[in-house]
Amino acid sequence: MNGKIFNLEELFRSGKERLREAQIEEADLDAWYLLEYITGVTKTAYYGNPKADVPEEQAEEYEVALAKRAEHIPLQHITGRQYFMGYEFLVNDQVLVPRQDTENLVEEAYRHIKEKLKKEPNKKVQVLDVCTGSGCILLSLMKLCGQIEGTGVDISEGALEVARQNGERLKADAVFRKSDLFENVEGAYDIIVSNPPYIRSAVIEELADEVKLHDPYIALDGKEDGLYFYRKIIAQAGKYLKPGGWILFEIGHDQAEEVSALLAQAGYDKIDVKKDLAGLDRVVSA
Ligand code: GLN
Repeated sequence: MNGKIFNLEELFRSGKERLREAQIEEADLDAWYLLEYITGVTKTAYYGNPKADVPEEQAEEYEVALAKRAEHIPLQHITGRQYFMGYEFLVNDQVLVPRQDTENLVEEAYRHIKEKLKKEPNKKVQVLDVCTGSGCILLSLMKLCGQIEGTGVDISEGALEVARQNGERLKADAVFRKSDLFENVEGAYDIIVSNPPYIRSAVIEELADEVKLHDPYIALDGKEDGLYFYRKIIAQAGKYLKPGGWILFEIGHDQAEEVSALLAQAGYDKIDVKKDLAGLDRVVSA
C-alpha cells in the first residue's frame, strides 16, 4: 500500500463505497462490522477519534475482507463469528450460521426449564439438542441456566468440532456426541430441543445465494416435503423423554399444522405453537 498511512474514517468511507457498489444490502453496516472486527475499535472510540491511524496490515486485512463481502460471502463466514442470544459463537462452512429466529426456540425451552426448576429447585435439568450444529441452542440454554446437564448430537463431525470449541469458549460443560438423530443417545431427558433441517428440497434452489452457497446443504434439506426430520425425531423421541418432559422444535412458517399433527398422532399433548417477532409460526412444543 505504498507506505500510505490510513485512518479509520478514510477506511470506513472506502469500505462503505465498495460495498454499496457491490449492491450489498446493508453496505454501511457491514463495512462498519468488518472494520470493528479487524481493528477492534468500538463505535464510541471511533467517534471519539475518527482520524486515528490504522496499522498498514490491518488496512490490508480490511481490503481483503471487503473484497470477500463484495462477492456476497456472508459476513459471518468472513469473521467466523455470529452473535446468538448475546453470546459469540464460532462458525464455519460446517455449520448453519445461527439465526435470530432460533432465539424463539431458546426462549421457549428456557421457560419450560424455569417451570421445572420452580417445582424441583435443587435438581439438574437434562437437556438434549438434536441436530445441534454450532451448539448455539444448547449452549445458550446452559449459559442462561447453570442447572442444565446438556447433550448435543449431530451427524456431522465437522459441526461437532465447532460445537465443542463453542462449549469451551463459553465455558459450558456440554457433551457433544456424533449421532444420526438418536442412534447414539442414551438416557432420559426433561427437555428435547431441535432445529432440524426443514426446507423442502425443491425450494433450496430458490434460497438467496448467501444461504444456499454458504450454509451446509445437510443443515437445510428437510427432503421432499420438508418434514423428514420431524417425522423421524417424533417417532423416536418418546423413548428418551422423561414423563412430563417437553419436546420443542423450530419450524418453518408453514409447518405448524403438520408438525402439530405428527405430535398428536404420536400421543403428545399440550401442543402449542409460538410465533416469532415477524408474527410467523416458529416454535412447536408438546
Ligand atoms: N441447531 C443448530 C441451529 O439451530 C443447527 C441447525 C441445523 O443445522 N439445521 O443453528
